[in-house]
Amino acid sequence: MYAVCLKCGKSKDAPYKRCSECGFKPADDDSMAKSVYLSLGRFDTRAEQSTYEYKLRELATEIRSGHEIAFDQVDMDRLRRQKIEVDSVSDAGVLRYLLRVFFPGLLFLLILAGVLIVLKLL
Ligand SMILES: [Zn+2]
Repeated sequence: MYAVCLKCGKSKDAPYKRCSECGFKPADDDSMAKSVYLSLGRFDTRAEQSTYEYKLRELATEIRSGHEIAFDQVDMDRLRRQKIEVDSVSDAGVLRYLLRVFFPGLLFLLILAGVLIVLKLL
């Protein structure tokens, strides 16, 4: 089990995916943050995740029996902030970063190809 459906408590393999049981798919920021909260992705390390897996099963049982989940507000705020940070990274920004990282290597290869062509012509 990796994630739990926010609406029915059925397990799924990713928090953003549509639930195979009830068809719920988190669309807005709030349900997305809550869905990440109800997944092992809430924690970074393997140790924290395996501790949380047991708790996650309990939360799934609570949802299935119709109880409201008490979301930890501090952690919910952290997840919302992370979502905003991820959203703020634009495709153009990623492209610029990749170009900056790989440009020196590409330039070197171009110069090398140029030198080889010149040497063959001589
Ligand atoms: Zn569901």
